[in-house]
Amino acid sequence: MPMQPLPFRQQDPAAPAYRRGWVDEAVAAIEADQCRTADTHLIRLIVPALAGIDIYLKDESTHPTGSLKHRLARSLFLYALCNGHIREGTPVIEASSGSTAVSEAYFAQMIDVPFYAVMPRTTSAEKIAAIEHYGGNCHLIDDGRALYAEAAALAARLNGHYMDQFTFAERATDWRGNNNIAESIFTQLKGEPRPVPDWIVMGAGTGGTSATIGRYLRYRQYPTRLCVADVEHSAFFDCFRNQDRTQVCERPSLIEGVGRPRCEPSFVPGVVDRMMKIPDAATIAAMNLLTRRLRRAVGGSTGTNFLTLCRLASEMRNAGETGSLVTLICDSGERYRQTYYEPQWLAARGLDPAPYEAELSAFLETGKPLSFTIADVANPQNSRGDG
Ligand SMILES: *Cc1c(COP(=O)(O)O)cnc(C)c1O
Repeated sequence: MPMQPLPFRQQDPAAPAYRRGWVDEAVAAIEADQCRTADTHLIRLIVPALAGIDIYLKDESTHPTGSLKHRLARSLFLYALCNGHIREGTPVIEASSGSTAVSEAYFAQMIDVPFYAVMPRTTSAEKIAAIEHYGGNCHLIDDGRALYAEAAALAARLNGHYMDQFTFAERATDWRGNNNIAESIFTQLKGEPRPVPDWIVMGAGTGGTSATIGRYLRYRQYPTRLCVADVEHSAFFDCFRNQDRTQVCERPSLIEGVGRPRCEPSFVPGVVDRMMKIPDAATIAAMNLLTRRLRRAVGGSTGTNFLTLCRLASEMRNAGETGSLVTLICDSGERYRQTYYEPQWLAARGLDPAPYEAELSAFLETGKPLSFTIADVANPQNSRGDG
């Protein structure tokens, strides 16, 4: 099984009629869509037991296509258009576990190009319906490990453009600013008592969001550190700890959107200060608790983020520190009613969130320190001498 991304396929310059005016119109349509869009909320979570530690959640579930992948899809389309990879009528193909394909189908429809999502057969019916709603085509495959190769092969057959989010996420986003997610967070924190967070916490799927945040922190010289939360059945944590990008993981992640079988090219470990590896049952526990506190269901990967944030908060409290912490609500729990919110689904996979939920609940109610063990490692390459 080739684990390296396939070489990027250049479009045959002789094939489609190249009309620059069409590209101008497509870019203008995507920019106009952003102009009509309000920024996503930065929610402050009120936790009286943690006085002096402020917790903020950037709510990416409210984009028109329901997840943080809306930002990525917009950036990938602009990148491909401005590089000459998508022209009038170019079919666009993507390898996805669902959310990226939903957002890309939305933008493909907006600029009137055909869209094909190559996805595992296990992709939820709801995500398939959403892609078809935006006029996209779903190409379902049995062996999830063949995802990248199948998408590249389909693009070759259709003479189309393979978007390849796992390779291009990190470079399609303008990390210096341009209202990227990091700049937006810092702007929204301006009026807060502690406007420069101690930590920003984020999971990794492509790794693109954490790369953007980590680069922005350095570019703007903020002291804020970046903690990336990984899940079970994922290669990222071991790649980071062992400084070895070739490590792979055979079993697929149960937490949609995060955890990958290989260390994706868009994951940039050099800007990550620390990583934790969160058990799936703990992810579900944190998802449930946050859902109750917000009175609104959040997705599984948001649980991974929140559990990691709570670990950092517990550590700060133990050390008598005050400060602020930020993480993301990546998508809504409505997408997972039949899975993470379904006790039978959890039981069939041997996941029991109850013990984690009890401890986490006590922490949020009373500040009692969290004691369960989580694999945790600082960047072996950065010793900043400040912990
Ligand atoms: C993609 C995704 C993530 C991870 O974001 P990346 O920028 O790809 O690392 C987290 N949660 C959900 C629901 C996602 O779809």
